[in-house]
Amino acid sequence: MSLLRPDLYHTDVLAIDLESLRASGIRVLLMDLDNTLLPRDGSGITPEVRAWIEALPAAGFTGCLVSNNWHAHVEDVAADLGLPIVAKSLKPLPQAFRRGLAVAGATAEESAVVGDQIFTDVLGGNLLGMKTILVTPLSSSDLPHTLVLRRVERRLLAGREPLA
Ligand SMILES: [Mg+2]
Repeated sequence: MSLLRPDLYHTDVLAIDLESLRASGIRVLLMDLDNTLLPRDGSGITPEVRAWIEALPAAGFTGCLVSNNWHAHVEDVAADLGLPIVAKSLKPLPQAFRRGLAVAGATAEESAVVGDQIFTDVLGGNLLGMKTILVTPLSSSDLPHTLVLRRVERRLLAGREPLA
């Protein structure tokens, strides 16, 4: 089903080809936080991912976090990373990424979604016609219902390997 299919699939955000993404007209990245940028196992943002985020403006991108997380600490993480955040966003409902587009002052056509879950990030982005980039989760720790969905996601991705 095409709404559940990511346009790109990478091992992590570091593997995303920002140059060709920018050349394709994308200038805004609406990014998931948990297990996309921040491991859910509590190990914290790696220096490599932090440097990648900090280099986005120079590469021509505006970043915005769109997270379903309800905990107040995500606001602190966003501030620490220097990124705006739409929290409690209710992905995959279209309102979630619409709020992100409003914060970034961008249209769906010039924005891409980056996330580790098909049923929130990829589905939500595809519902608005955005380019969707799936990454492998940073840790195997996650919420119980997410771990159940991961089994379904693995079947949807059958045979498709993430590009490094
Ligand atoms: Mg996530």
